[in-house]
Amino acid sequence: MTFSLAIVGRPNVGKSTLFNRLVGKRLALVDDQPGVTRDLREGEGKLGDLRFTVIDTAGLEEATDESLQGRMRRLTERAVDMADVCLFMIDARVGVTPADQVFAEILRKRADHVILAANKGEGAAADAGVLEAYGLGLGEPIRLSAEHGEGLPELYATLQPLADAFAERAEAEAPEIETEVGEDDPDAPRVPTVQKPMQIAVVGRPNAGKSTLINKILGEDRLLTGPEAGITRDSISLRMDWGGTPVRIFDTAGMRKKAKVQEKLEKLSVSDGLRAVKFAEIVIVLLDAAIPFEQQDLRIADLAEREGRAVVIAVNKWDLEDEKSEKLRELKDSFERLLPQLRGAPLITVSARTGRGLDRLQAAVMKAYDVWNRRVTTAQLNRWLIGMMESHPPPAPQGKRIKLRYMTQAKTRPPGFVVMCSHPDKLPESYARYLVNGLRTTFDMPGTPIRLYFRGQG
Ligand code: GDP
Ligand code: GDP
Repeated sequence: MTFSLAIVGRPNVGKSTLFNRLVGKRLALVDDQPGVTRDLREGEGKLGDLRFTVIDTAGLEEATDESLQGRMRRLTERAVDMADVCLFMIDARVGVTPADQVFAEILRKRADHVILAANKGEGAAADAGVLEAYGLGLGEPIRLSAEHGEGLPELYATLQPLADAFAERAEAEAPEIETEVGEDDPDAPRVPTVQKPMQIAVVGRPNAGKSTLINKILGEDRLLTGPEAGITRDSISLRMDWGGTPVRIFDTAGMRKKAKVQEKLEKLSVSDGLRAVKFAEIVIVLLDAAIPFEQQDLRIADLAEREGRAVVIAVNKWDLEDEKSEKLRELKDSFERLLPQLRGAPLITVSARTGRGLDRLQAAVMKAYDVWNRRVTTAQLNRWLIGMMESHPPPAPQGKRIKLRYMTQAKTRPPGFVVMCSHPDKLPESYARYLVNGLRTTFDMPGTPIRLYFRGQG
């Protein structure tokens, strides 16, 4: 990723359409209704051989709510500050509006590199608007049709020299170290990945307090929160430092139950939540203490486990609980009963509103990440395996004892181990569980999924 591109402009000009075209995955929502795109979101953009980060923004909301509008505008300003290049989009069929003028003013003052795009440029209806765009004083507009994919070669030609310049800049600066131990050398010590942000998804029911939590971590008002379900309508991602560690947090308002917005948005939002899990390394399942472990919570936690993500359960709104110790006992019981597959995952009580417990949450997240990346040497594993077999030998179905001969860690993120054995198909599930639980305690690996693969010797 050599540089970042923020797409800015008022609502409905086609920002999300372009974002989707560049990112290729449906990370943004598109709709006719103005203001559907409310917050910043990021994706990996691709145009020809160019690779960059694309940031999609909320436009200037033409809503009546003044404060919301002001906040929208601040979001845009932040996007401008975050990005290397701004693509300012207008609707060529509408022409330049007063709101566009306001944007142009912000960009002239704040942005280093601005690309002006006159979108919906297909057909003669756009001719006048494209000409008007020259008047914004931001250089020659690129005539685009995000929907039909027109004007992309021109966009490429404009971005390409900038990309080169940013690549040179990146080389001049200290290079990013991304050392991964080769899979063929399991005994080598793990060298931590440096400077790559930890990818965290915050998932949970609407109103669980996801936005409030992220705001609190962020320490500034970048996200919009409110009492109504799902003001954040889909996944967004934010980069920040959390206790000195670079992280990228995916916020999702998915998992929405009540049809507050239309069907179409509902479906997209739910899959957004699922997608955030797929992108993440660590999933924080945020529960509302008043209504914990609802069906949706269980479903997403289970998905996170199956996808092999490190999971931390956070129980929010703890400030509202009176009988804290009794409630905690109940929560732990329900957790064990309802999510046995996540046994040992940390359960942290927090108040996103007051900030209480966030230090413990941060510690749990860092620990989960560490465990998720943990690598155990082959020598240690085999010593341990012998001990495990001595204290509890594998069964002997039909008189033939199953022999576990050798074990090695095949992968991390999450940890996966190969066990060479005779009759792998006959090994009962209970023995596999015995080994997994043993690994967790001996090598201090709570809460992260652990995979065991039993292989017969050929
Ligand atoms: P945003 O609010 O700026 O994110 O705008 P959207 O991407 O949601 O697009 C708003 C509407 O404009 C949607 O109905 C799109 O299908 C439509 N749209 C986007 N790009 C084009 C285009 O190039 N031509 C035409 N005719 N419509 C477009
Ligand atoms: P989201 O839909 O999951 O993003 O939830 P929000 O962050 O928008 O929060 C929903 C509502 O719960 C808002 O009214 C918040 O003020 C409130 N809320 C969030 N966290 C807490 C908390 O720790 N304690 C209390 N009492 N209320 C909270």
